Amino acid sequence: MKYRHQFHAGNFADVHKHVLLLDVLRALMRKDKGLLFVDTHAGRGEYELHPGDSAHPAEWQAGAAYLLSAEPRHETLRQYRELLVARRHGGSLVYPGSPLLALGQLRDVDRAVFFEMQREEAGHLRKLVTGRTRVEVADGFAGLRALMPPPERRGCVLIDPPYEEREDFTRVTQAATDTLQRFESAVLVLWLPVKLREDFDTWYAKLRRAVNRPTLASLLWMHPCDSRAALNGSALVVINPPYLVDEAMREWLPEVRSILGGPQSGCEVL
Ligand code: SAM
Repeated sequence: MKYRHQFHAGNFADVHKHVLLLDVLRALMRKDKGLLFVDTHAGRGEYELHPGDSAHPAEWQAGAAYLLSAEPRHETLRQYRELLVARRHGGSLVYPGSPLLALGQLRDVDRAVFFEMQREEAGHLRKLVTGRTRVEVADGFAGLRALMPPPERRGCVLIDPPYEEREDFTRVTQAATDTLQRFESAVLVLWLPVKLREDFDTWYAKLRRAVNRPTLASLLWMHPCDSRAALNGSALVVINPPYLVDEAMREWLPEVRSILGGPQSGCEVL
């Protein structure tokens, strides 16, 4: 596998994904009952980002760095920015990935399981986590299947594969469908890259038919969805969205767009 998240950490798509994840977890924490959080493609947990580091393309300079210099209005964006401020050291940033972001929200009654295929990435993550948390060097799609339904009967799952292989699009649909068959109230957060808008719309229509549960999609694009950039946009789908996540997204998403995006950018809630 060639994929290293280090090269993309803190870019516009990470900011989009992590703000949404934070908002979903905050909403789930309004109820006292414990839950299971599963991150099927967890990464190494944190990423050291330095300005002008030639080994690491500066995607984060057009993502997390813009948010750091902004004064966001929405409460979730303010909270997310504070997490970044606490990890900023001069011009550098130790960017928190999804596992650290989630662990910051989970309580003693909650549990977390993280899957990561690359041994070295998983090893790094293992050193960072504590509490009722497991890190497994294993395929996240198969691992998720084995965990459903969780004994807590409350759960939130992030599915965030690298999409180096086209099959990841169908694997994500399959994993969502399987999970909901075993555990119909699972809250699922799926990340997808957007190159052509039309391809996303086709995939999303199929997913909605397959899962037949309430769904919500958040789209953020930095370039028009037919341009030649490697990644034009970021899409997040929430299945069984918790109460008020839809309303909040309609407020924070345009704000994220205006902080990160130029004249060619856009956003939409579906
Ligand atoms: N979720 C992380 C975050 O937001 O901070 C980023 C994850 S990154 C997009 C995808 C990760 O999945 C990579 O670290 C890669 O090594 C790992 N990976 C790839 N295939 C996998 C699989 N089948 N099961 C588990 N992890 C996998």
